[in-house]
Amino acid sequence: MIIVDQNLIRKIIKKRLPDSHKGEHGHALIIAGSRTKMGAAIIAAKACLRSGIGLVTLNIPKKERGAIFTAIPEAMIELREENNDWEKYNALAIGPGFGTDKTAERKVEFLLKNAKSPVVFDADSLNIFAQKQQLLTKLPPNSTLTPHVKEFDRLFGIHFSVEKRQQKAMEKAIELNCIIVLKGHKTFVTDGKQCFQNTTGNPGLAKGGSGDALTGIITAFLAQGYEPINAATLAVYLHGMAADLTLETQSVESMLITDVIANLGKAFQ
Ligand code: AMP
Ligand code: MG
Repeated sequence: MIIVDQNLIRKIIKKRLPDSHKGEHGHALIIAGSRTKMGAAIIAAKACLRSGIGLVTLNIPKKERGAIFTAIPEAMIELREENNDWEKYNALAIGPGFGTDKTAERKVEFLLKNAKSPVVFDADSLNIFAQKQQLLTKLPPNSTLTPHVKEFDRLFGIHFSVEKRQQKAMEKAIELNCIIVLKGHKTFVTDGKQCFQNTTGNPGLAKGGSGDALTGIITAFLAQGYEPINAATLAVYLHGMAADLTLETQSVESMLITDVIANLGKAFQ
């Protein structure tokens, strides 16, 4: 088990060149949100934009598009109902606030067939896999799954100890050829060969929206060309560190994920 500390992060993280251009920092697509859960899409896009990405497009239902331009004017949108061409994106994420109905399921199936870039599967996309296990065998190369403990057990069976769950995460990462980010206190990241244990974060993150922000951060690093295992490790560390820095002005009770996203800048520094 490799313990993730600042030394390791300094080795992984790339510098932004002084003469760089937004086209060199990647374009991410985040397929998230539904009628009652647009906040998840906004949180994921904000965290993505605060993690070095060049451009973010949100795939959202047409009726909900008004929410985006006021909440997050930096993001572009594409409409869920349209036939989308996803080839131009450098990384994709699907799941936060997405729902698990038939339309959502079809979108996940479409993505599995058409993704050419790395994909992060989170939240409801994982719940769709739990209902339709055969879809898991169709993950595109360079996929990352980000289950919390309950989502993990829905996918891979109930586990009664942290060690057993981590062991299963390694086995499944090999079998499915993906990265698994097993979220919680001391988040565990594995590709089946190497395992990383995070050291940042606090129970202020045990609140709705935290995972949606993490998805945005991982997607940002993937779109910038980081190897998936490095993208996940880096994202988990910075997400937790931003939460730890938030304790300077908030408490574990009062912190909001928007406070944490605002502190990503300090975490990068
Ligand atoms: P989700 O359950 O999808 O919203 O994800 C929760 C996020 O918050 C994950 O990144 C977890 O690692 C993090 N988190 C939740 N509870 C804690 C905790 N007690 N300590 C550290 N991180 C936590
Ligand atoms: Mg979640």
